[in-house]
Amino acid sequence: MIIVLKKGASQQEIDQLTRLVTAHGVQVNPVIGTDLTILGLVGDTSQVDPNRVESFPCVERIMHVAEPFKKANRMFHPEDTVVDVAGVPVGGKRLAVMAGPCSVESREQVTGIARAVQQAGANILRGGAFKPRTSPYAFQGLKYEGLELLCAAREATGLPIVSEIMSPFDLDVFVEKVDLIQVGARNMQNFDLLRQLGRIRKPILLKRGLSATIEEWLMSAEYILAEGNPNVILCERGIRTFETYTRNTVDLGAIPAVKKLSHLPVIVDPSHGTGKSWMVEPLARAAVAVGADGVMVEVHNDPQHALCDGQQSITPDTFAQVMADIRTIAGAVGREI
Ligand code: PEP
Ligand code: MN
Repeated sequence: MIIVLKKGASQQEIDQLTRLVTAHGVQVNPVIGTDLTILGLVGDTSQVDPNRVESFPCVERIMHVAEPFKKANRMFHPEDTVVDVAGVPVGGKRLAVMAGPCSVESREQVTGIARAVQQAGANILRGGAFKPRTSPYAFQGLKYEGLELLCAAREATGLPIVSEIMSPFDLDVFVEKVDLIQVGARNMQNFDLLRQLGRIRKPILLKRGLSATIEEWLMSAEYILAEGNPNVILCERGIRTFETYTRNTVDLGAIPAVKKLSHLPVIVDPSHGTGKSWMVEPLARAAVAVGADGVMVEVHNDPQHALCDGQQSITPDTFAQVMADIRTIAGAVGREI
């Protein structure tokens, strides 16, 4: 349930109303916007009498929220959320461009790529240290050493870093070292991990699960928000469909859908979405055109010899071209890079 308050409602009236509602064990989430002040109710609202609520003079109207996600719902928070990733705002007018290797391989590799993508205009460095590989025999990432090398690349460039966490056991080290903690597609419904990430304040990049519906994806965001961490960025990275030509099917329709349903920023990863380096550029352009708040792109200095996902990685030169293209599209849709 959402309670829309009249302009000029006094704090005393709001407190009174809050007491009435919380007496039924329901949590109150106040959002004070420029045009509108609302109280979002989270929990079992069946015991809250709507007539009693509407009898308060400060109440303009009440609305019922049909969707199971509440804090992630745009009705709860009509304005776009802008997440601050170590000084880089994600979700505002300016697009977020996260670029870097699938996996951190060496100090020279990650720092070299970081410098190149920064020069081309990226504002966040990506790099996997803990890799969720289908095969247990495949390269699993440099793990803690990989995080150290990412930190060194941040030191060299000033770019904030995003990296994937796989286990709640590593929470402390990620909180200490990483600016944006990525939850990969395979862990989108690891609810214990999501709850733990909800208890910190670090921004979380929540990738869409391989076969997750938009509602399931938003419910996973809700797990993080419900625990108190409001800093969630969503990432569409393609879903499993009957189509096998591409690694996944990039669901660009999910972008306007998420924008309508939720206030959270949403970006697109055309690298994992397509699995093909030559398709990254057109899909990055399309992502910006359809209203995404940014993109995440895999960039490698030597894709043919990359230890992971070389076939979908683009070179720094191609990345510079992608940047030039999406800058043009961004201007056409009222955004900037
Ligand atoms: C990644 O970004 O490196 C990754 C493994 O992505 P996803 O979880 O989307 O497959
Ligand atoms: Mn990858």
